[in-house]
Amino acid sequence: MLIGACRAAPKTEPRAAGGTKARPSIMLVTLDTTRADAIGPEATGIDTPAFSELAARGRRFRQAYATVPETLPSHTSMMTGLYPAGHGVHENARYLSGDRPVLAERLRQAGYRTVAFVSAFTLARRFGLARGFDVYDDEMPEGQVERAAQETTDRTLAHLRQDSRQPLFLWVHYYDPHYPYTPPEPFRSRYLKKPYLGEVAAMDQQLGRLVQAFEQQVKGPAGIVIVGDHGEGLGDHRESQHGSLLYQATMHVPLVLVGPGIAKGVSDTPVSTRRVFHTILDWAGLGESNSLRGSEQEVVLAEAMRPFVAFGWQPQVMAVLGRQKAIFAGKLEVYDVVADPMEARDLAAEVEVSRALKTAVRDYPVPSLEAPLANVSARSRPVVRKDAPRPVDMSRLFDVIEKASGLFAREEYARAIPLLERILAEDPKNLDATLSLATAHSALGHEKQALEAFRGAADIAPDSQDVRTYLALHYARGKQWERAVPLLERVVAETPDRLPALEALAVLRERQGRTSEAVALRQKIYVMRKPSAEELVRLGQLAMDDGQTALAIEAFEKARALQGRAFGQDLELGVLYLAARRLPEAKDSLDRVALSHPEYPMALFKRAQVSVLLHEPDRAARIALARERADATTRKLIAAERLFQE
Ligand SMILES: [Zn+2]
Repeated sequence: MLIGACRAAPKTEPRAAGGTKARPSIMLVTLDTTRADAIGPEATGIDTPAFSELAARGRRFRQAYATVPETLPSHTSMMTGLYPAGHGVHENARYLSGDRPVLAERLRQAGYRTVAFVSAFTLARRFGLARGFDVYDDEMPEGQVERAAQETTDRTLAHLRQDSRQPLFLWVHYYDPHYPYTPPEPFRSRYLKKPYLGEVAAMDQQLGRLVQAFEQQVKGPAGIVIVGDHGEGLGDHRESQHGSLLYQATMHVPLVLVGPGIAKGVSDTPVSTRRVFHTILDWAGLGESNSLRGSEQEVVLAEAMRPFVAFGWQPQVMAVLGRQKAIFAGKLEVYDVVADPMEARDLAAEVEVSRALKTAVRDYPVPSLEAPLANVSARSRPVVRKDAPRPVDMSRLFDVIEKASGLFAREEYARAIPLLERILAEDPKNLDATLSLATAHSALGHEKQALEAFRGAADIAPDSQDVRTYLALHYARGKQWERAVPLLERVVAETPDRLPALEALAVLRERQGRTSEAVALRQKIYVMRKPSAEELVRLGQLAMDDGQTALAIEAFEKARALQGRAFGQDLELGVLYLAARRLPEAKDSLDRVALSHPEYPMALFKRAQVSVLLHEPDRAARIALARERADATTRKLIAAERLFQE
């Protein structure tokens, strides 16, 4: 890809990682929201013994950079080895396209058992990173969007006790330091004034348990990567969380490698965390290029596009080479990150900026506003509105935006509306706020205000798929199917992996009586996210109506596995088994139908058929019982049934 051409130094001599020896088991631990200065031997005001012990055993990169200050895109870079321009995921809640090869797939093909435990909804299966994993545990506690490191570690340890001869690739993601900061005891008391650090310290304790268990369980060689996905503003440059700016607080992350061919010590070479991908492939013997085992230097790139894509502010790009860091967001800023890690002094007017850096930020491909998911080429120039503000100049809105989006996500629309109006009073062309306002009004049944806001959104971004999707959902909410359907059809045709549009279209197809399409859409949705038992039942019913016996059986069986005794479709399942000539299963299923079932006579009729086909000794008695208890429907069926006429 294009960005690969930005490399500053020539490749070093290739070296063999493990020769022809057994493939090492590999553990990748990603630490969410962890600042580089909040963990390890150089952190002040906090003790993180587990991380520091690993750092002492391996190689610590003191200038490692995330590719995006947001969870999903940053992890996507580690799993693909690509910058966002290459993998297409610029913000959370997008979907990694199925045609991008991912790390777990490569490792599984090479004979690895691939296992992941993630701790936040942001990385749920539906966003595309589960591909290639034999096990992908994204189960959060009931009603929650995250789980604590302790629980994730407990579950991982339970899994590690299973024996396997295959080498293991294990990815564990911890989310604790993410806002809100609520560390467990004793860390809560110990870090009373700095609860963020308390979360990091609590996570470090779990990291210690995890590393110990991994190393005990894995026999033979092993590699370990510990890396942050991005940092946290904590007020630096007036950013309290992350995602809006590109300063060190959120971009500079911890990175430690312990494993085959890794020299002990520290490295001050700036590196991108996307090379975690290449390093793990190197350990697995699947190619050495870009491995952090080598000393290849590169111009390290990063971006923060959410303010651009969502709010229409200036796109933000960053490049680091040596100690010089350039940020371009409407204008160029330059910092010496070694002498001035707080980036207090912009050197743009004072120093000669390296040409490699200037070229890198100038040529960085910015996504298009119309289709942020689409692949972008370096030649297509982004459409940036003339009066687009620089994100750093909008910092007064960061907290209210964060608060509004939190309320919106929790569906507290009435409370979100005044905040959204406040944002729009200061930033009238903010697409995200306009769309959120429209959707909030729509959900509350404020038809007139909703349509007015949707019109505003369409004026800001006439070709936006987000606008089309949310407007379609609005029409669907008001049962205006004839308006909703064409909009949704267009969105799904243009972006076939867009979950909210797929879900809405599946419901509409069902209402239109286009059952085959409804079934196909539901199947696609349930690959992207886990269906509930009720949804599996509905899929089974639709597939049955559509004559897809095998699919209907599969869906009902899965629902039954989840529901146990509460499963209410034993009659349907029995009928399906009978149709598929799976007679012993048909018998068991029909025997489970309760006496109180409104169609119990049908169960008796079907059971008698099965009895005849199985040549059961009591078949005559079963036919007699079916006759005796027959209702209007089964009476006719029994009279016409040839099986009963011998
Ligand atoms: Zn994150």
